[in-house]
Amino acid sequence: MKQSDTRQKFFRHIAQTSDEPMGLEIDRAEGCFIYTTDGRRYTDLISGIAVSSLGHRHPAVIDAIRRQLDKHLHVMVYGEFIQEPQSRFAQLLCSQLPGNLDRVYFVNSGTEATEGALKLAKKSTGRQKLVAFLNSYHGDTHGSLSVTGRSVYRDPYKPLLPDVHFLDFNSFDGLDMIDETTAAVIMEPIQGEGGIIPAENNWLREVRNRCNEAGSLLIFDEIQTGFFRTGQLFAFEHYGIVPDILCLAKAMGGGMPMGAFVSSSDIFKAFKYDPPLNHVTTFGGHPVSCAAALANLRVLLSGSFEKKAGMIEKTARKILTGSGITEVRGRGAMLGLQLRDAELTQNVVKSCFEKGLILGWTLHSNTLVRIAPPLIIEQELLEDSLQIILTAIREYL
Ligand code: PMP
Repeated sequence: MKQSDTRQKFFRHIAQTSDEPMGLEIDRAEGCFIYTTDGRRYTDLISGIAVSSLGHRHPAVIDAIRRQLDKHLHVMVYGEFIQEPQSRFAQLLCSQLPGNLDRVYFVNSGTEATEGALKLAKKSTGRQKLVAFLNSYHGDTHGSLSVTGRSVYRDPYKPLLPDVHFLDFNSFDGLDMIDETTAAVIMEPIQGEGGIIPAENNWLREVRNRCNEAGSLLIFDEIQTGFFRTGQLFAFEHYGIVPDILCLAKAMGGGMPMGAFVSSSDIFKAFKYDPPLNHVTTFGGHPVSCAAALANLRVLLSGSFEKKAGMIEKTARKILTGSGITEVRGRGAMLGLQLRDAELTQNVVKSCFEKGLILGWTLHSNTLVRIAPPLIIEQELLEDSLQIILTAIREYL
């Protein structure tokens, strides 16, 4: 088949990250569907990835973007000028969070949120040591990579940050590593790229206790779990504990690039002095992204997304059973389908793709199919999609 002009340019000039990109040539996207230039329609069952929680191009988000376009785009580096979309969104976000999370620093992506959180923890505690967990993922810039718990990704880029210590996730062993020299412990309450692994309640409480005792800050990376993906606005709400710094991105901008780290006024003081302006960004909190994020959050808060995420989990657990399937893991609409082996997993994802269903892997596991549909997905579309997965599994057994 002759390659389209766009496809040729993609393969010639876009820096590639693997030899086998999915390579869909996008025409448009709406709701749960992505339409390609060859006239096909795909159901997006991973929300690209955990971003489009309200589906693609939610009308409220599009409207907010349009209105902001008519007012202004970028005007000044973050933190200098007062911009309505930033202030309003920060206020709405903080109104949904516990009292110690009352200040927002806006960035453009998840990894920048991690970077900012690590710097904030080091500066506000005056300590250097960081504790992180095996199989975690916190982003691909150097600081984030330093606390990402998989050596195959870290090793080619060494030396990274010093004084980072990795512990087993969900294990009480080694928690005494969190001591008076520890600036912060960073973790995902549900490990995403590690294979959709929820933290256990008692263990998480113990981590929180250890941080309190040692005066270390607890950083929750909710970049993937945030904004109702797991059934609560934020996953920490399932556990009844509160982090000192919360990292957000992905679904936050309703499809626009957007990230943030949120903490207390007291902790954030560290960024104002010695020297002033010690953490700045040009584009963080872009007015169009903030306008989109505000509209996105308003819709999320006005719908029954807690129930919808619960419905997605219940339906998946009901339908996805039988041979070849080891387990359905996760919470709400952040699910992983654990299959028998890597070959089956690869074949199932490929076969579903051919049948118009977009699924994916997680970065650290090759036997897990990621399922993270838009939260707006109708029951019927969800059931039909899950049946396609089930059929594909049966085909390859
Ligand atoms: N943390 C977590 C938990 C993530 O899932 C991701 C993205 N997969 C990131 C950080 C990095 O986000 P970004 O790609 O926006 O830098």
